[in-house]
Amino acid sequence: MTPRLEIDLDAIENNTRTLTNTLTPRGIRVVGVTKGVAGSPHVAAAMMRGGAHGIADSRIDNLEALRRAGVGAPISLVRTPMLSQVSRVVELADVSFNTELTVLQALSEAALAAHMKHRVVLVAELGDLRDGIPASDLVAVARAVLRLPGLTLAGIGANLACMSGVIPGDRNMGELSELACRIELSLGVALDTVSGGNSANLGWVSATADTGRVNELRLGEAILLGTDPVRGEPLPGLSPDVMSLVGEVIEIQTKPAQPWGDRLATTAFGPAPVGSTAGIVRQAIVAIGRQDAALESISAVDGYRLLGMSSDHLALDIGAAALSVGDEVRFHIGYSSLLRAVHSRSVDTQLLSSVAALHSGPTRVPA
Ligand SMILES: *Cc1c(COP(=O)(O)O)cnc(C)c1O
Repeated sequence: MTPRLEIDLDAIENNTRTLTNTLTPRGIRVVGVTKGVAGSPHVAAAMMRGGAHGIADSRIDNLEALRRAGVGAPISLVRTPMLSQVSRVVELADVSFNTELTVLQALSEAALAAHMKHRVVLVAELGDLRDGIPASDLVAVARAVLRLPGLTLAGIGANLACMSGVIPGDRNMGELSELACRIELSLGVALDTVSGGNSANLGWVSATADTGRVNELRLGEAILLGTDPVRGEPLPGLSPDVMSLVGEVIEIQTKPAQPWGDRLATTAFGPAPVGSTAGIVRQAIVAIGRQDAALESISAVDGYRLLGMSSDHLALDIGAAALSVGDEVRFHIGYSSLLRAVHSRSVDTQLLSSVAALHSGPTRVPA
């Protein structure tokens, strides 16, 4: 079926194992992040086979999918919970990441009502300006958590490089370690978790001599795509071939390289592409659109030049390639395209794994 997103579960397991083998000796555990694949339980299971310590996701619906499928691993909710969802959070998550006292109070009440204790990680704002408690308030919020009877203070965490592109380094990670020590000294507690960040932290870990108190990283992109979000390049030792998007050719025509007629400067999706070549182009249209992938985050495995994309069409310059209508074209994708493909109703997800049939090579298992 096309279009389809192929996910190689063995590659996910191997990437997780490579990262675990690198980070465990540094005292850092790997939590596998499944939000890029909408909380796929099969992907979570592959991460756990590769040695992940637990699973994290940012959305409660994805957590529910994981639980419903029987994933027994510790599960973290890594976006501060919606006030309207606190009961589901204590039911479905072992740990939640938090930044708002109002929400913490509601979580405590929900946990008490369910006769349980809920573990929380307090997220510190270290400069990326997404979610986070100002460092100067962190001790006070931690003190408040200790007084909430339904909660256990599991630790603190940070998240960089997501909204403002602030790179994790010795300075901001050092500040996180200092905050952990300050909370422990002022409040007389021991923090189990110092969650340093996401895949963007891997460059810092490999470059620094001292990872301080950081004992956890939450890794999505590195496992799912094998890439470093800071440099946009493959990470050494990781497979970049976990995901591919496959589309079908619906038209092949030789056309002028330049459009003609009175031109608007823009299209429904912003500025029109400026064709760089003159002459003619042998062009293939693939039935994949912006609904299924993002133009800046897709490239043809066979190297065809991307000419443009609308909601439902992707135009390629195929040169002299032996392609026909009905043929499949395979694409590498980045994180933006992965998110769209996973959530597009038109894209079929196909999981490839040798685990289901160890003796007969890779097989397809139902998504
Ligand atoms: C998405 C997310 C992650 C994982 O990020 P990657 O760059 O995919 O590794 C980790 N932590 C939080 C809070 C996130 O929202």
